[in-house]
Amino acid sequence: MSIPKLKDQEIGALPDPAGDMALFGRSREELDFWISCVGAPLVIVEKQTLTVRSANRNASIFFGMEIEAFSKCPIKTLVGEEAAHMLGQIWSNAPVGVPGEPFLVRGLVQEQQRLLMVQVTKLVVEGEPVRLFTFSDAPPEGSIALAGWQENIIAMLNWLPFGFEIASTDDQIQFANSRFNTLFGYSQDEVESIEDWWRMAYPDPDYRQFARSKWATEIAAARAEDREMTPFDLQVATAGGGRRTIQFRHRTIGNFNVNLYLDVTQERAYAQELKTLAETDPLTGVLNRRRFFEEAELLYASGGSASLPVAFLMLDIDHFKRINDANGHGTGDLVLVEFTRRCCSVIRPGDSFARLGGEEFAVLLNYADSKVVEDIGERIRAVISRMPFDIDGTKLDVTVSIGGAICGPVEESVEATISRADKALYAAKNAGRNRVVV
Ligand code: GH3
Ligand code: MG
Ligand code: MG
Repeated sequence: MSIPKLKDQEIGALPDPAGDMALFGRSREELDFWISCVGAPLVIVEKQTLTVRSANRNASIFFGMEIEAFSKCPIKTLVGEEAAHMLGQIWSNAPVGVPGEPFLVRGLVQEQQRLLMVQVTKLVVEGEPVRLFTFSDAPPEGSIALAGWQENIIAMLNWLPFGFEIASTDDQIQFANSRFNTLFGYSQDEVESIEDWWRMAYPDPDYRQFARSKWATEIAAARAEDREMTPFDLQVATAGGGRRTIQFRHRTIGNFNVNLYLDVTQERAYAQELKTLAETDPLTGVLNRRRFFEEAELLYASGGSASLPVAFLMLDIDHFKRINDANGHGTGDLVLVEFTRRCCSVIRPGDSFARLGGEEFAVLLNYADSKVVEDIGERIRAVISRMPFDIDGTKLDVTVSIGGAICGPVEESVEATISRADKALYAAKNAGRNRVVV
């Protein structure tokens, strides 16, 4: 049996009456001595593996084993598999050297069902955290039922399909269910404090700052009104190097902060995909008709009092049917893609470009007077006609006719303005094509 020494700084919080002689841990004999002084069965356990490092004489009597036999013995050999699992789930974040809350565990000791009261104390030995478990028989009255309740509740919490965590009011984790552990993959010893959590889950400092202030404002609002926090999503880095979208839910219950962590990565990705499919034109990737009209209505509604009104340009490629007929539908498609690229290169960043259908396109101009409408219309006309389109080596001359209209007084609807722009487009076609009419 080997008992590592505690280093001075690791027991710095403890009194050091003998000057350079630390209270315990200076030698294996001293640690043995202090362990054997404790009047309860005491077992030192390696937290990661849940195996025993050493035990005292009372433990030897309690578990019916020679002291030497404890070394490297799995904790489940002492108390049974179920109790060992439960002990693995207790997160004691009491400071080093201070026992955590007592915990009732139904264990199998020397082949007998025993109700045990367990307390966990964290120690750091040569930089490595170990847990010191003290065992005693639980007071019998009522506690069997209580332990049953506790076991059942923990089993239920472990069954939940989302991470569930209880923290004390100073944000120290008291309990975390199985899903919490598998969701993020961080071990108990990595998450010593809430600061470790922020650092690991949000490695990017800017995003971490955003996440922290999100938490702070949402929790403050919820507490001020004594209600559940309004749920929100954040991107969390997992121990395995992955990134998950987590929905956070929080509520203060009694002296505890209860946090729920729902993995919504898949749902959010599907929703985004559906939104993209519903709002964009698959050939050119720009807004489709439906989304364009939504954008227009939104802008129109928000721009009622702006100094410059909303305006529209309607675009229709000239004699597109001929391009299709002469070169095939596939080439026609590539012309539509190149047409889109050229138009997008000359509109302003805040304006929206859409394919309304076929070879008809539209621009939603975010605040424009007639000069701006004419300028942008002319820029588009020029960028299309200036140079032939090069489609797989074939040079094609393409031109476009453009009609523009500016939203009149607030009473005029989006629909009415677009209809005026359509009329202007028709006029451009009639006047000989390849021109802008506003
Ligand atoms: P105009 O100058 O009067 O606008 O003549 P146009 O030939 O452009 O007008 P018209 O409306 O007669 O023809 C539009 C053509 O666009 C007809 C149709 O086959 C073609 N078209 C519509 N959608 C697509 C598409 O997605 N891909 C291709 N390649 N052609 C399309
Ligand atoms: Mg047309
Ligand atoms: Mg056309």
